[in-house]
Amino acid sequence: MTWRADVLTIFPSMFPGPLGESLAGKAMEAGSWSLKVTDIRDFGLGRHRSVDDTPFGGGAGMVLRPDVLDAAIGSVADGAVADERPLIVLTPRGAPLTQKRVRELAEGPGVILLCGRFEGIDQRVIDARQAEEVSIGDYILSGGEIASLVLLDAAIRLLPGVMGAADSAVEESFSAPLLEYPHYTRPAVWAERAVPETLTSGNHAAIAAWRLEAARQTTKTRRPDLYNQYIASGALAP
Ligand code: SAM
Repeated sequence: MTWRADVLTIFPSMFPGPLGESLAGKAMEAGSWSLKVTDIRDFGLGRHRSVDDTPFGGGAGMVLRPDVLDAAIGSVADGAVADERPLIVLTPRGAPLTQKRVRELAEGPGVILLCGRFEGIDQRVIDARQAEEVSIGDYILSGGEIASLVLLDAAIRLLPGVMGAADSAVEESFSAPLLEYPHYTRPAVWAERAVPETLTSGNHAAIAAWRLEAARQTTKTRRPDLYNQYIASGALAP
């Protein structure tokens, strides 16, 4: 069955963008997923197809209007809670996107994504449509389009048949939850730097142990938050 993505944006030409290339592009051609982009401005008001207005309470910038956004959402999904697909609003105020959530989304029927711009979106349409608010990280982008591309890329590669090696998603960072071990390829010595000896030994058990230890040490140093989750999961003693 085709995984269906709808994107609502005032910059429709930003799609499919990078998702038309490589794995995602091939998967779209093969019918593993489909993309429909809706221009929010088609639902804009007046001669200028206006989509935004000044914020109540004052302050800088403009806010996307709830009536315009609701009409745009209604054009792709009936009812208050979109359709069977989750309606996701990309916003720095949202819950941080995780591999776990991406996996759940990839296992579902698809997503409807609403891209913010300017200062953001009138909260009432988010509440009325019971949208899920998702952030892709603690920094501010100029709009939700790139955040949508990130979410879609992460989900599409998990769709059945999209990734080359069937098991490559299983070992990846955040599945454990550990960051991945470092990778090396030929030449075995480059710029006077040799590949770690174990990796050229052919001893599969030793290689697996080396990789696990490297993953644990990297996670411990770089992401103590993830490492604590790993320890709490009881996978291994510290
Ligand atoms: N005034 C907002 C704030 O301080 O939280 C920032 C608005 S931002 C300039 C415009 C739009 O970009 C947002 O409405 C949202 O759709 C998108 N955006 C920016 N950063 C994001 C992030 N980290 N994750 C998801 N979407 C983001």
